[in-house]
Amino acid sequence: MIIKTFPLGLIGTNTYLLIDEESKEAVLIDLGGDFHPIKEELEKNNAELKYILNTHGHFDHIMGERDAQQVFKVPVYIHEDDKYLVENLPKQLERFGFVANYLPPENIKTFTQNDVFKIGNNEIKVIHTPGHTPGSVCFLIGKDLFSGDTLFYTSVGRTDFEGGSFAKLSNSITQKLFKLDEDVDVYPGHDSKTTIGYEKKYNCYFGSDNL
Ligand SMILES: [Zn+2]
Ligand SMILES: [Zn+2]
Repeated sequence: MIIKTFPLGLIGTNTYLLIDEESKEAVLIDLGGDFHPIKEELEKNNAELKYILNTHGHFDHIMGERDAQQVFKVPVYIHEDDKYLVENLPKQLERFGFVANYLPPENIKTFTQNDVFKIGNNEIKVIHTPGHTPGSVCFLIGKDLFSGDTLFYTSVGRTDFEGGSFAKLSNSITQKLFKLDEDVDVYPGHDSKTTIGYEKKYNCYFGSDNL
């Protein structure tokens, strides 16, 4: 599996492109900006984009999707509890002080906790991790976890936005993510990669060294 990282959009949100080398199927996780570098990468690998998965519905993770859909004609998937955020993209932009000239994606499909997606023969498991937003999820593919704004390198996502809950975030991290194998690689929505083992020890909020 090829994993490419593209920091895109207004605040450099990590967009992840996954390409299964065998089947040449590709999946995007979040799309916060201009899709052209992704299109180039797909062409270079002779791969076809199947769909876009979203870790949550905040503007900086979904802003590039409507434009990309004009070219790729793929559906966008989001947890059912965050669908309202995607539909309210212009309102979100306004609230954060940006110009609201982006339309929400079309063809929005929802998923829940136990849904499984596929890329080639690889399973993509949905782990519902509410806290940063009600419908925040992480995607687990083998030993790779895409954590959105739930878990960061030595940090966690903010919970002071509408719908946020530190109690829920705490439960999501300690009861779900920290139960995964320590050698799972974590690809967050912002900044650098980390691992579950590293965060269990050094995370500023939940690491054993800081408790
Ligand atoms: Zn967010
Ligand atoms: Zn974000």
